[in-house]
Amino acid sequence: MTGEPAARIARRTSGGSRVIGRVVLILAGLAGAAHAASSSGALHCPHLLDVRAGRVLDDQMVLFDGGRVTAIGPAASTRPPPGVTPRDLPGLTCLPGLIDAHVHLTVDPNHSGYDGLGISVPAQVVIGVRNARATLASGFTTVRNVGAEGYTDVALRDGIAAGDIDGPRMQVSGPPLGITGGHADNNLLPFSYHDTAEGVADGPWAARAKVRQNAKYGVDLIKIMASGGVLSKGDEPGAEQYSLEEMQAIVTEAHKLGRRVAAHAHGTQAITDAILAGVDSVEHASLIDDRGIALAKQHGTFLVMDIYDDDYILATGSASGGMLEESIVKERRLGRAQRENFRRAHAAGALMAFGTDAGVYPHGDNARQFAKMVEWGMTPVEAIRAATLNAAQLMGWSDRVGSLEPGHFADIVAVDGDPTQDVRRLEHVRFVMQGGTVKRGP
Ligand SMILES: [Zn+2]
Repeated sequence: MTGEPAARIARRTSGGSRVIGRVVLILAGLAGAAHAASSSGALHCPHLLDVRAGRVLDDQMVLFDGGRVTAIGPAASTRPPPGVTPRDLPGLTCLPGLIDAHVHLTVDPNHSGYDGLGISVPAQVVIGVRNARATLASGFTTVRNVGAEGYTDVALRDGIAAGDIDGPRMQVSGPPLGITGGHADNNLLPFSYHDTAEGVADGPWAARAKVRQNAKYGVDLIKIMASGGVLSKGDEPGAEQYSLEEMQAIVTEAHKLGRRVAAHAHGTQAITDAILAGVDSVEHASLIDDRGIALAKQHGTFLVMDIYDDDYILATGSASGGMLEESIVKERRLGRAQRENFRRAHAAGALMAFGTDAGVYPHGDNARQFAKMVEWGMTPVEAIRAATLNAAQLMGWSDRVGSLEPGHFADIVAVDGDPTQDVRRLEHVRFVMQGGTVKRGP
């Protein structure tokens, strides 16, 4: 439970923080379309998890054409077209490509605190390329990237969609919005540097202008900092940052422009105000109380609770490259409470999507959170649904990812054994197909 390394995402507006890269304009929601032209064929799965039914089916065939599923059913009755030989996956269990709804592909864990100041914006793109590849190889075929500097995430998304580099399908937020001195700002340097992060905007109209700017430069969603954070300097995770009035303005503007809103919120008041303002998801939700849980259910707000990274932060601590001492203190205070509140929110029936804050821990280890979700109250099938059906719903992509059915992308992963019996199987994905193209295979 963290919040991103602020120095990395909250880079200065002054000085040449411009990404020089391909200018490929892709409308929100079309990301991933370029994969479609890639592949046709058939995949024979000895076992296949139907995530909707929560059952493992035997001897299944998936047919795909133009990167999308055309048919799925028992191998005995689902015949490939003439001339198509099915690819076999002996002994493996197939399931839809996994989705992580909270990642930071352009950020690495060893760039926390002051260490993050030395990472240029162009270097973040290169780091993002490497992390995108690692994320895809680990079975996550779709991600929501919630916070990046210099619209590096937009470039990454478009490079992947164009087929220039390998990586998950992405929705991206660009620079997160937040108050002066808050979790989205860079609070590391003294006043003489006059350093303000890209996403800082105080007051309803300034915040609306930032929403418009992010939309102008191609983001799919808006990320806001409703409360303080763990990895930022000098703020308090339990304290509200954006006011209700500011959040209402942001949500109104974002929704008007067709963008959903994800709110980073640890503190109780920040969580309830974000939900009342109409955000689509609350990230972290560490100190959510009964009222917050009830409001989230009433408003259909998703909770995206990153309950694995606490282990990583506390295990590596300050050794993980410049992490501020205060960050470790904050994490110790919040980690356990967040997990207990995850259990309570799940038991109460709150909507939950899988999100891990990858970047705080190494990319590619995303699936380690499944075991935590099971340890804290979910069944394996519920945890898998959070990373498939639910995450797709949160992203507004239920028509293309998160389940295997005709018309959806042929994004399929496979593991040894039965992940509904042992969810840790997902930590060792053996086969990855994206849009009908094999990206990793036995
Ligand atoms: Zn984050």
